[in-house]
Amino acid sequence: MAVVTRRLRVSTSGENDMVDLTRKTSEAVTESEIRNGLAMLFVPGSTASVTTIEFEPGLLQDFPKMLERIAPKDLRYEHQRAWNDDNGHSHVKAALLGPSLSVPFVQGKLVLGTWQQIVLIELDTRPRDREVVVQLMGE
Ligand code: ZN
Repeated sequence: MAVVTRRLRVSTSGENDMVDLTRKTSEAVTESEIRNGLAMLFVPGSTASVTTIEFEPGLLQDFPKMLERIAPKDLRYEHQRAWNDDNGHSHVKAALLGPSLSVPFVQGKLVLGTWQQIVLIELDTRPRDREVVVQLMGE
């Protein structure tokens, strides 16, 4: 079995920015010598997440609106009282969505649905430079 580690650099514009990582992940698979296995994406940090979605304008609005209903910005967050910052809602959303995603690939091609894209979602309240670790495992 082989393991290849790549890092994707992403600059986000701030809260609710969603960045399509599908092409970069596919390229990482193609450039590796691994033909069959698992691509694992992980974002270090506690205010961003990696998931999949249909990357189209409607859902790019619907998804953040859903998150706002689950963890409204204007609630009282103990995190903010403790640290005097403004991103308690960002942390709880990120914990709920999780920091990682695994996608199988077969014959050098990611096994994704036709309308399914891999996305980083920025949940912090300001623009951030993110580094997404892509680890390819297989043979
Ligand atoms: Zn914080």
